[in-house]
Amino acid sequence: MPSLLYKIYKSNDLWRVDTLENDIYLTFDDGPIPEVTPWVLDLLDTYNAKATFFCVGDNVQKHPAIFDDLLQRGHSVGNHTFNHLNGWKSNPKDYILNVKKCSKSFPSSLFRPPYGKTSYSERKFLKKYFQFVYWTVVSGDFDKTLSPEKCLEKTISSTEKGAIVVFHDSLKAKENLQYVLPAFLAHFSNLGFQFKAIPYHHQGAKHPLEQIKTAS
Ligand SMILES: [Zn+2]
Repeated sequence: MPSLLYKIYKSNDLWRVDTLENDIYLTFDDGPIPEVTPWVLDLLDTYNAKATFFCVGDNVQKHPAIFDDLLQRGHSVGNHTFNHLNGWKSNPKDYILNVKKCSKSFPSSLFRPPYGKTSYSERKFLKKYFQFVYWTVVSGDFDKTLSPEKCLEKTISSTEKGAIVVFHDSLKAKENLQYVLPAFLAHFSNLGFQFKAIPYHHQGAKHPLEQIKTAS
């Protein structure tokens, strides 16, 4: 690929997938954790559904078996920092080091900033190394003021082909997720939709971030 095109490609953030197929791109943030992630994995399997998990490095280190299971089942993974940092409240150098630490526990070319927040300098730097992935639909599964029924209705009505939908495999989201995810999968599966993972690559054992100095 010519380098200019490559740069343009790299600078494009992903908000939805441009597709003619009836495909939906489910994403799960903040895991993996034993209380929720294995349940999600089993449920996805029953629909032959693939998804993308934006993992927190600290959780991957604490629960390596769940993380391996997730990879074995053919899902994609993306970097979500090591400690779920808010980029607006972090020192840029600390933020980048935290992303790098996550990258050391598992390499991925995909990055989703927690809360969708990065400062100008953090973003400018990280965009050189990652495909940023945002979302088309936020389920609000973590929102305690949102009833499971409302959460389901809202998520279904805003989803269409190519949508990137955010769920969370977290304790905060567990209650809504356990109601919404089975119904969401059943609904779109009945309509003939398939659930796909966002393609990613892991640059061998070494992530490109390994090869650069983060002291800038
Ligand atoms: Zn998050």
